Amino acid sequence: IIEMRGVGKRFGKFEALKDIDLEVAAGEVVVLLGPSGSGKSTLIRCINLLEQYDAGDVVVDGTRVEAGRRLQSVRQEVAMVFQAFNLFPNHTVLDNVALGPVRVRGLSWQESRARARRLLERVGIAEQAEKYPVQLSGGQQQRVGIARALAMEPRILLFDEPTSALDPEMVGEVLDVIKGLAGEGVTMMLVTHEMGFARQVADRIVFMEAGEIKEISTPETFFTATRNERARAFLDAVL
Ligand code: ATP
Ligand code: MG
Repeated sequence: IIEMRGVGKRFGKFEALKDIDLEVAAGEVVVLLGPSGSGKSTLIRCINLLEQYDAGDVVVDGTRVEAGRRLQSVRQEVAMVFQAFNLFPNHTVLDNVALGPVRVRGLSWQESRARARRLLERVGIAEQAEKYPVQLSGGQQQRVGIARALAMEPRILLFDEPTSALDPEMVGEVLDVIKGLAGEGVTMMLVTHEMGFARQVADRIVFMEAGEIKEISTPETFFTATRNERARAFLDAVL
């Protein structure tokens, strides 16, 4: 469902991504790991064109991702959950989730709010629907962020460190929601520093360093038997 072929990205002279080849199948959960600055965020941001790549192809569901008319439809198919929630402070929790489909897909408020209520149930915060984001804990806000992404009925969910802005006691509730989605067959690509979670939830681990993919393997292989020296050093540092 995602194909990246020879993808490159420069910031000036600096090569943030070099010749990235990666395919993600429908229903698959791919976790990107690697040291700070290795290009993980840049890679996933190229998939919904938050970052414009300058070499190669990114193809989502058969359509090349590029600026222009199609961008809107790519953004509908590929939803992103951010580290910093990015909720609308002046809308209720329910309307944060309902807004996208009303604006972008022309749903009525009534129908979109009904769907939003079901999504809030799915992420376990139905009782917070009428509150404003500022009245919620970080973990609850991030679950709203996930519900809001799901409201667009995306084919793919991208997560960039969805729990790294959270207090430790809130991390588990958000990871549980993501695990639930993985169990339901939602296609996901995520960057995380939670190694135990990565090991549990990933179908494949992609290890990056200095803008390159150094290893693609199953979590079992990656965490117990990687032959890649860089990956070994990374694991020694984080585990
Ligand atoms: P982290 O784990 O710290 O989030 P990362 O693997 O996500 O790191 P990226 O954010 O993808 O790393 O950045 C990769 C490299 O590209 C870094 O060296 C970064 O400084 C550089 N970079 C990222 N965005 C820009 C930008 N807008 N302008 C210039 N350089 C950038
Ligand atoms: Mg990053």
